[in-house]
Amino acid sequence: MSDPRLVLATHNDHKVGELRAILLAAGTVPGLLPDEVVGAARFTDVQPVEDGVTFEANALIKARALAAESGLPSVADDSGLAVDVLGGAPGIFSARWAGRHGDDRANLDLLLAQLGDIAPEHRRARFVCAAALVTPEGVEHVVRGELVGTLLTVPRGDGGFGYDPILQPEGYDRSCAELSPEEKNAISHRGQAFRALAPTIADVLRG
Ligand code: IMP
Repeated sequence: MSDPRLVLATHNDHKVGELRAILLAAGTVPGLLPDEVVGAARFTDVQPVEDGVTFEANALIKARALAAESGLPSVADDSGLAVDVLGGAPGIFSARWAGRHGDDRANLDLLLAQLGDIAPEHRRARFVCAAALVTPEGVEHVVRGELVGTLLTVPRGDGGFGYDPILQPEGYDRSCAELSPEEKNAISHRGQAFRALAPTIADVLRG
């Protein structure tokens, strides 16, 4: 087993797998091996307070804390759904829009109710992801990816998580919950942000 070289700021194994797949696809970060990318649980149980007011600020808070704990280059992301007609909300409050952190169904139902009378042409929204790389030596780099689409009136599909069943990406006739994981990674806010961060990760790992 190789020593870790890059730490991902998540305790969710599914997310570690998804991000590792994006970073390793087709040598996005040349020479990086699957075993060398590990989740935060290898180093810490503690999750910092995310008191930033932008996706970028929260991603940096998580990456800085993990770089300090692990002594290794660390990557964090922060994401959410931004609805045009709501001025960018739920935004950084996406995971707890209905009041309870992580209640995906309640969050989605509340949003659909709030947009009940809004016509299709005004239902534009985007998934946003800020991805940050921080090293123990103080290198800091943060990028943003977006997936633009339209909010449906009724949830569709069983895949994905969060607001996936109600966001239909521009140019598609399916919701994000009806895309395969590979299709979604290819266009998603997270895929775009992590691919944009990859050259800096490669630079840092080359030393
Ligand atoms: P986090 O960055 O993992 O904390 O995500 C914040 C929240 O944004 C999630 O709980 C979801 O509600 C929403 N979200 C972020 N990315 C996605 C996505 O790819 N699909 C659906 N919902 C998402």
